Amino acid sequence: KTFSTGSGKFFGKRRVVDAVQDASFHLYKGETIGIVGESGSGKSTLGRCIVRLLAPSKGRVLLEGEDIAHMPGAELRERRRRIQMIFQDPFSSLNPRSRVSRILTEGPIAYGATPGDARKRAGELLELVGLDASAMSRFPHEFSGGQRQRIGIARALALDPAIVIADEAVSALDVSIQAQVLDLLADLKARLNLSMLFITHDLRVAARICDRIIVMQKGRIIETGPADKVLRDPDTDYTRSLLDAIP
Ligand code: ATP
Ligand code: MG
Repeated sequence: KTFSTGSGKFFGKRRVVDAVQDASFHLYKGETIGIVGESGSGKSTLGRCIVRLLAPSKGRVLLEGEDIAHMPGAELRERRRRIQMIFQDPFSSLNPRSRVSRILTEGPIAYGATPGDARKRAGELLELVGLDASAMSRFPHEFSGGQRQRIGIARALALDPAIVIADEAVSALDVSIQAQVLDLLADLKARLNLSMLFITHDLRVAARICDRIIVMQKGRIIETGPADKVLRDPDTDYTRSLLDAIP
């Protein structure tokens, strides 16, 4: 077991919003869990609490048995490297003024890699995500949306994470490009034995690459099960309505 969480997050001093409550689950090594639910159900908040972009208001986030939910900065830093996030909009999450070489090397260098090693690894990662080595000297705006998402994936992998959290990582892409990026993620998780949390509002997309699915409604987990089971025979009307909502 790599990872487990039982955390909650509320926004506002007086609990203006209980964004996530009692969302407990475990993520095992090499496993991919899909987190699905309608807009506002708390998927991103849960993901952000896990990567510690947000501090959970209560509960625990265990990474290999250690609680990182309230760990102080210096200790947290190394743990944080091991949980990387891929965002929805690859354009706004990649610095437009940085060349790809810098985008892929600055994280590892900040964590102590030599520039030479980081650059060598960046070249390998570009190949791994299906981009040409010539991409190194180019800027994000010179790439298509799907290619930018590949760069975002390479940037996450550059830090050798144990866990990757993809938050609507393919939602902004055309359907055919979506399929390519999903295939890439499926291939990478198998090759690198990554644990992945795949956040999406689209249950069918989740079922394509996830082993298990967690369904969230109003900040709570209301259903969980093997992906094919949840897709074929959901327990709740809410999950059924998520399926009906997809054209
Ligand atoms: P979507 O599918 O639209 O991305 P989501 O499931 O990711 O939705 P969240 O973004 O996690 O949902 O939001 C959950 C709830 O928390 C919503 O009610 C939202 O308005 C609220 N919320 C999120 N971020 C904040 C914030 N920084 N301050 C106050 N409320 C917030
Ligand atoms: Mg979201």
